[in-house]
Amino acid sequence: MFPVHRPRRLRTHPQLRRMVRETVLTTNDLIYPLFAVPGEGIAKEVKSMPGVYQLSVNKIVEEAKAVYDLGIPAIILFGIPADKDVDATGAWHDCGIVQKAATAVKEAVPDLIVIADTCLCEYTSHGHCGYLQVGDLTGRVLNDPTLELLKKTAVSQAKAGADIIAPSGMMDGFVQAIRQGLDEAGFEDTPILSYAAKYASAYYGPFRDAAESTPQFGDRRTYQMDPGNAREAIKEIELDIAEGADMLMVKPALAYMDIIWRVKEASNLPVAAYNVSGEYSMIKAAALNGWIDEKRVVMETLTSFKRAGADLILTYHAKDAARWLLE
Ligand SMILES: [Zn+2]
Repeated sequence: MFPVHRPRRLRTHPQLRRMVRETVLTTNDLIYPLFAVPGEGIAKEVKSMPGVYQLSVNKIVEEAKAVYDLGIPAIILFGIPADKDVDATGAWHDCGIVQKAATAVKEAVPDLIVIADTCLCEYTSHGHCGYLQVGDLTGRVLNDPTLELLKKTAVSQAKAGADIIAPSGMMDGFVQAIRQGLDEAGFEDTPILSYAAKYASAYYGPFRDAAESTPQFGDRRTYQMDPGNAREAIKEIELDIAEGADMLMVKPALAYMDIIWRVKEASNLPVAAYNVSGEYSMIKAAALNGWIDEKRVVMETLTSFKRAGADLILTYHAKDAARWLLE
């Protein structure tokens, strides 16, 4: 009995495979994260993230031009302030590092979309994503007072030129608070990309070196989600949609492809996936050891995020991927 159906027929030729390929990665899908530090002429490689640098504003501008020339449509900015305090002043001050970087990039490369990560952990002395009760050593962030800080941060980022506001602190009601703040300040056309389903993940390890945002005590499990939960992700995204989110993010990506898929199925909004630092560093480390083919593994991974439902991928591989897509 010969099989009538032979799926291999459609795999016999590269052109045929190209014709029936269901998912195609393009540079349109990519968002490149950048870390801004105070100073001039600084490009300091992050130890645990080969190829990723903390950059002073003038270097961020150079990098932004390079990113734009590669056809990548957007960057997302994180900031490492000179000083940290309990009020996260560096996050919402008009002279904050992200504000400066956003303004400089928009001046130099007006067509590049600048997304501002809107959180407080890089700016608080304790490294948590908001206000803590005096004497708290567990990291149980006070939700509602923190919303006021996030609102202020988002408005000052929009004023500085940020095109998209991306709140990442997993505070309840943060999308609504920020939407209200932006609207009141005249930024009703500035979209919100909500880190809607963000998990308390060990994959963020290297990022914390890059952003110098490791909590001084406690952890983030009272606000970020438990890795065992999927239905709760749907609850989170439904709330964010109701509060006015324009786009939704799932973070991390690699170990959460099922969540990306569920979020895509459950909403009509664009879905972003954050291919986080630990995912990047694992590939880099293996590639540097000669254990894997970096290009093939990166392209397969990014394509798989898209296949899982991601419309946008935040990734430290963005520049490499854009180059490889041009080959
Ligand atoms: Zn945070």
